[in-house]
Amino acid sequence: MRVPYDVLISGCGPVGATLANLLRQQGYAVAIFDRDKDVFIAPRAMQIDAESCRIFQQLGIQSRLEGRDARPAYKHVFVDKNRKTLMALDTHSIREIYGHAAAGMRFHQPALEHLLRADFDNTEASPKVDTYLGYEVLAVDGAGSAATLTAKNIETEEVTEFSGRYLVGADGGNSLCRKYITDTRIDMNYARRWIVMDVLVHDDALWNSLIDRSEFMCRPDAAVVFVKGCNNHVRFDFEVTDEVAETFTKDDAIALISNYFDTSSIEFQRIAPYYFYAGMPDKWRKGRVFIAGDAAHLTSPFSGQGLNMGIRDAANLAFKFDLVFRGLAGDECLNSYQDERWPHCERTINGATARGLMISANDLRGRMKRALSFFIGRVSPGLALAMTVKMSDFTVYENGLIGAHKLSGDRFIQPWVTAQDDVPMLLDDVAGDGFLLLTNGSDASQKEAWFDKKLGGKRLHIGTDIEDSKGYLTAYFEKHDISAILVRPDRYIFDAGDDAAALTAGLKDALAAYG
Ligand SMILES: Cc1cc2nc3c(=O)[nH]c(=O)nc-3n(C[C@H](O)[C@H](O)[C@H](O)COP(=O)(O)OP(=O)(O)OC[C@H]3O[C@@H](n4cnc5c(N)ncnc54)[C@H](O)[C@@H]3O)c2cc1C
Repeated sequence: MRVPYDVLISGCGPVGATLANLLRQQGYAVAIFDRDKDVFIAPRAMQIDAESCRIFQQLGIQSRLEGRDARPAYKHVFVDKNRKTLMALDTHSIREIYGHAAAGMRFHQPALEHLLRADFDNTEASPKVDTYLGYEVLAVDGAGSAATLTAKNIETEEVTEFSGRYLVGADGGNSLCRKYITDTRIDMNYARRWIVMDVLVHDDALWNSLIDRSEFMCRPDAAVVFVKGCNNHVRFDFEVTDEVAETFTKDDAIALISNYFDTSSIEFQRIAPYYFYAGMPDKWRKGRVFIAGDAAHLTSPFSGQGLNMGIRDAANLAFKFDLVFRGLAGDECLNSYQDERWPHCERTINGATARGLMISANDLRGRMKRALSFFIGRVSPGLALAMTVKMSDFTVYENGLIGAHKLSGDRFIQPWVTAQDDVPMLLDDVAGDGFLLLTNGSDASQKEAWFDKKLGGKRLHIGTDIEDSKGYLTAYFEKHDISAILVRPDRYIFDAGDDAAALTAGLKDALAAYG
């Protein structure tokens, strides 16, 4: 058996690669396995939300992704079969309270995955991630005192067993790790056939002329989604019956796309039938084996959340592994991963399903409901935006590693602040990667051995350590009538109140309760 790792990761898609880097940053020994040597050429996800951007900011890759490979996504339009606008949403006016574009960014998935993989060797401050690309994972086991993974080198056919303290299956929708954990998958009311077309537009003038937006065509016979991506990539998703899926040809694709633009300079990266399905296995853990990303949850793509849910999984698991590895919490702490993430994903998936069914509705009741929503959106775009923001505000954890304050389990804001040398910085860049105790008012909290030394938490006092240059933090503290807030490494609020010492004591007790 090979030298034990801290964490073995099966699947080097975006979720596995994000988790590997988060653990690498914390100094852990990680091995990651994938049957494919290269990243998949065509993007699947096209939109990352502000929370994923924040996690990529922590990894130091967000600034590298922006520019060529990502840009803010502001415009979403619903159109009829003639492409006449039924309702338009423009998110420019929504305040960026999490430090990144409120409605997220359109991005190029292969570029993101290349950046994530490039950082596996980023050895300046941490060990490198051991990569086993071109390895088929044949079996996993989490029952003993270590997790084991059996993998076959596809070229040499040599089979090797690896071991680690824990194993995470980020091995996609057809996950072997999921099948190891459970046979039970809960269907969540969406199972439909679509054709996914990824197109490269080689004519730059044509590419530049395409409006930068996602467009949802609510056709009575079949919905079409059009998204202008990055790097000359355009996505079309076309809802089809089973029969059409069987017989759909490149000529059919060209006929559909020619309703949008001249097809003479396009190249198809792929035309693939997809079965969009929504569902989750009932369990995400068995012994030392966990699942994350598509392995743990599948959603229809209409909220652009499939990958984002997986990136949140990675951030959630990474800091909890760290607590367990450092002896600050027992293994039971890792159960809070499913306690927090499962209901959160359930709400997210239900939201996506509702959107998907709304776009495709062809019964009278569905169409009337849709027409009413679009009417409201047209007469009051502000209200439509507010409703969209509310529908997307699915981010509160109700159980798990959280305190009792009403803010506990919510995401903390990330404004620009002024730190040393009067340089404006995003709050997380000042706070670092661990727990953050942020205080306001006259009484700065006192250092204590457990929080400051053992946990390695960071204290920031507004007015002393940072200037709240735009006043957002002060306004937040006033609005919620608090003077201290304790934020977890994944930027969710552990607890809030007036007594900073009580918050850290509460965290210590909560971790101790996990054994
Ligand atoms: C048309 C479409 C549009 C989408 N749009 C969006 C969007 O806008 N926003 C969004 O957030 N999400 C979107 N998604 C969803 C998103 O693409 C997925 O949620 C995301 O790619 C899942 O990442 P993952 O790392 O969990 O899994 P994957 O990307 O599937 O990676 C799993 C990896 O595991 C490897 N693997 C599997 N089994 C084994 C094995 N036995 N041995 C070795 N290797 C193995 C595979 O080779 C693969 O590389 C969309 C999906 C589709 C299909």
